Amino acid sequence: MIQARAVAGRWRQLRWWADAGLVATLFAIPWIRVGGEPLVLLDIPARQFHVFGLVIFPQELYFLWLLLAGAALALFLFTALFGRLWCGWACPQTVFTDLFAAVGRRIQGWGGPRPPKRVALWRRVATHGVWFALSMTIGFHLVGYFVPPQELLAGLRAGTLGPSATGFLVVIGVLAYLDFAIVRQTFCTLLCPYARFQGVLMDPDSMVVGYDPGRGEPRGKKGTTEGDCVDCGLCVQVCPTDIDIRHGLQLSCIACTQCIDACDGVMERLDRPRGLIAYRSLRDLEGEGATRVLRPRVLIYAVLLAVSVGSFGYLLAAREPLDLWVSHNRTALVSRMADGRLGNAFTLRLENRARADRVFRLRLEGDAPGFELVAGVNPIDVAATSSVEARVFVLAPAGYDERGAARTALRFVLEPVDAPDRNLVRETHFLLGGSRGGA
Ligand code: SF4
Ligand code: SF4
Repeated sequence: MIQARAVAGRWRQLRWWADAGLVATLFAIPWIRVGGEPLVLLDIPARQFHVFGLVIFPQELYFLWLLLAGAALALFLFTALFGRLWCGWACPQTVFTDLFAAVGRRIQGWGGPRPPKRVALWRRVATHGVWFALSMTIGFHLVGYFVPPQELLAGLRAGTLGPSATGFLVVIGVLAYLDFAIVRQTFCTLLCPYARFQGVLMDPDSMVVGYDPGRGEPRGKKGTTEGDCVDCGLCVQVCPTDIDIRHGLQLSCIACTQCIDACDGVMERLDRPRGLIAYRSLRDLEGEGATRVLRPRVLIYAVLLAVSVGSFGYLLAAREPLDLWVSHNRTALVSRMADGRLGNAFTLRLENRARADRVFRLRLEGDAPGFELVAGVNPIDVAATSSVEARVFVLAPAGYDERGAARTALRFVLEPVDAPDRNLVRETHFLLGGSRGGA
């Protein structure tokens, strides 16, 4: 079922532009590549997150947390200042629900704000068919944030898409259909967690969509009362969450501004000033003085946001473009070589976080004279924003274990060939016990 009554007006026109911008942005982002790398890609199999030019590796998830914390604080600040404008204007739930409703009206041949008396069966079927196709398009682009859409498309065309990607696509597409075509704004009123706590973020100076009771009451048919509200009920008929804004600010109001457009239209026809329902602060609506912009909660959210952005910037500037992990090879901890020397096997993981291929040299340094590093390949090539695993041996000097040596520290040095002074050192130790013969 499509929302009972459509509305036109200044705010609705602006919202169409906002809807178009948001849909275009959400659909375009997965396709955009900068310098050959995706602009945004949460590549779980490769354990890499590409976020606007930054490639985040699993051990750097603090970047992702800081981004999420920054986004949450920005939303808190935005809510304290502008109320639930996010819900009505930028939330994908509202935007796609709007889009589905508009498409449905077009297919079902609405000539005005109300549905036609009878909608032919083929039009109903076509509405759901188009909605389903739209849902699959949305699902494709959402999955495109996890699997590059170019790969998804190629896999779909060739019929080679794996079962997990196919299942993911179908499930997201079906959920989008159920959500935007069936559940619609019920999600906002019953399920959305943000709606539950937004009241805590707002105060009387936050902007809201509100009714001016001082001007509207007492309400009644034109010419029967002093108030400007003629009780036409249009503001209720256009409300997607089915509330009467004249009863005051309510949890279900998503600030979509449709009631403003509906009421402004009525006021214009009655030759009265617009703004009986308006986007103003509660303080202003209740005649308690001018709206204050700078207030404690706004300043606190702004400072926390600045701290989050500053920490992100600092960590980014201090970030090393390489990393090295060293671990003993558990399947062959200690071995004795044919020449009698003891050897330890290690698994190293070299990570190149730069956007260019790099070559790294491995060496041992420090307090281990006579210890020898044996690597199949050294220097080692590591492609841009990727990691490689290398298995190496460290051989102790002859007779080392017979000297009753204490545990010896080993220092692995990873040295970029193009910048040897920007090297990285990881310390471990040489194991003596449990040696097995004949390597
Ligand atoms: S649209 Fe305006 S005039 Fe009509 S009922 Fe709502 S507030 Fe009153
Ligand atoms: S009361 Fe007005 S702004 Fe709030 S959801 Fe209903 S139509 Fe939208």
